[in-house]
Amino acid sequence: MGHGDAELGVVLKTTPLRESDLLVVLYTATHGRVTAVARGARKSQRRFAGALQLLVLGRYQLGRRPKGELWGLDSADVEREWTQLASDVFAVAHASYIAELVAALLPAESPEPEALDVIVGLWESLSEGGASPAALRNVELALLELAGHQPALASCAACGERDLESGAMFDPARGGAICRRCAATSRGPGVRPLEPGTRRYLVEVAAAHSAAAARAIDERYPSGDRTAARDAMIAMVGSLVGKPLKSLEYIAKLGAAARR
Ligand SMILES: [Zn+2]
Repeated sequence: MGHGDAELGVVLKTTPLRESDLLVVLYTATHGRVTAVARGARKSQRRFAGALQLLVLGRYQLGRRPKGELWGLDSADVEREWTQLASDVFAVAHASYIAELVAALLPAESPEPEALDVIVGLWESLSEGGASPAALRNVELALLELAGHQPALASCAACGERDLESGAMFDPARGGAICRRCAATSRGPGVRPLEPGTRRYLVEVAAAHSAAAARAIDERYPSGDRTAARDAMIAMVGSLVGKPLKSLEYIAKLGAAARR
């Protein structure tokens, strides 16, 4: 059986379905985010060749749609894999968060050709040097941009003012950085002060051309700026997705354990 026309993609999530099937959420190059039924995959994964997991760039043979929105997933093959990262809990946590973010943020069946490169770019960066906050923020910001929700960082999201050095706030509901004057009317949940260093860190991270290229930025900023940037981005994601992401809670627990 040839896989010449199989779709390049990655698995975002798998859920048991009935007795023997798996429901698989994929991000594919040509169809974007799709949900497919892998028949019998809970009993035998032979047809799927280890490609139904995180950290694998695979080829997925999508069959006809039996009904509604679900595709059939007939078979799969591994194209490249980064599964050696599975023993690194921080790497897995970052990869899981990005998978959950793509599933929650990018609309179904609306392909963004760059999204796969962004996801794989994170895995490359993780295998080069482990988990890095700046690399994760770079990927998060790239995905927000693809989803049309890039936060304003260089000028006020409300009025365009470029002076954000004093009294600036971060307001996720208004779209990012808010100048001192506009901040007077920012009162929603998730609104927080945006220190100049935190803002510069996010600007630098967003400008890096890949996750791996962003790594070095962490060393140039105090941990307070990295933490504040993380919290601002989590507030932004929460405001867009409208629910807490499970993988973020897990990352927070890992972070707390590492500090003890
Ligand atoms: Zn303003």
